[in-house]
Amino acid sequence: MLWSVTFEAQFRIDKQRAGISQREKQQSTNNWCLYPRHRSSPKGCRAERMAKFVKKATELGFCPGVKRAIETTKQAAQSAPVFTLGKLVHNDAVVRELESMGIKVVHSLDDALGLVAISAHGAPPRVYDELQHKGLKFIDTTCPIVRKAQQKASQLANEGYFVVVYGDPDHTEVKGLLDRAGPNSKAGLSVSSVLRGRLPKRLAILSQTTRLSHEVQAFVSEVLTPLEKFQDIKIAVTLCQHVARRAREAVSLASSTDLVVVVGDPQSSNSNRLVERCNQFGHAKLVSSAHMIDREWQELKVAETVGVTSGTSSPDWLIDEVVDAIERLG
Ligand code: SF4
Repeated sequence: MLWSVTFEAQFRIDKQRAGISQREKQQSTNNWCLYPRHRSSPKGCRAERMAKFVKKATELGFCPGVKRAIETTKQAAQSAPVFTLGKLVHNDAVVRELESMGIKVVHSLDDALGLVAISAHGAPPRVYDELQHKGLKFIDTTCPIVRKAQQKASQLANEGYFVVVYGDPDHTEVKGLLDRAGPNSKAGLSVSSVLRGRLPKRLAILSQTTRLSHEVQAFVSEVLTPLEKFQDIKIAVTLCQHVARRAREAVSLASSTDLVVVVGDPQSSNSNRLVERCNQFGHAKLVSSAHMIDREWQELKVAETVGVTSGTSSPDWLIDEVVDAIERLG
């Protein structure tokens, strides 16, 4: 009898303890979940117990400019060694693949021992002069959209405008735009970095092709306030429509999924812009390979729906590997 009473009391205590620890576990599970709708679930975060639903963007992989640059260079490499002045694209996986085909990256024309390939970002005029001076043959894979921006920069400078380029002054494309616009030009991402001291009477603004329209608009409106500071203003829209479309789709993915995975290299300007844009509407992470898809990655662990998009220099096979890795987590 005594045994039975003791046993029953112990059983009640164990049950209570089990109940408490279950509640604690549930609370802690609910607390760490990033998404409010998961926290309100009585069973804790549902996402951890479900397969991930992957929603892919419709426009992914190489943009037409990058695709053209890679195909042209690969074709040329079949008959001669090719040297790219800087990386052909801002993606290390692609650069390694090209290297395996005998396409080498050089940072100076002194190291180029054969045909030189100019990347889709273009090159400053002095590079063409140097190529000619050294008697080096070259293939020019400058993207037609970048070329149009270069022509616009020269035209505006010839018309007597002070040319402001909204973009990263260290980026190859921006350097090429500045070189074409000449000494009366400046590039930067803030108004204070491009317009100091006396304001130019004639001002023209254009942008790096891969910037996003909302940031260019904000920059232009800041420069032009108050409008009466200027006598003559020209604004040239030099944005790439392919990048703009990806950005619009990325916003809709960020608004409709728990997490957006952007497949791209950390050096890729447009991939970083996509992450920034998505983070304004939801959660996003840049992933350069499938190895970065980690089961313990908290944001991914708790996401039910995962959007996948990519920068313009990410190959399809890399995107497929990332999608597979996410789906395998479920
Ligand atoms: S992102 Fe646009 S501008 Fe840049 S290479 Fe691709 S198509 Fe050309």
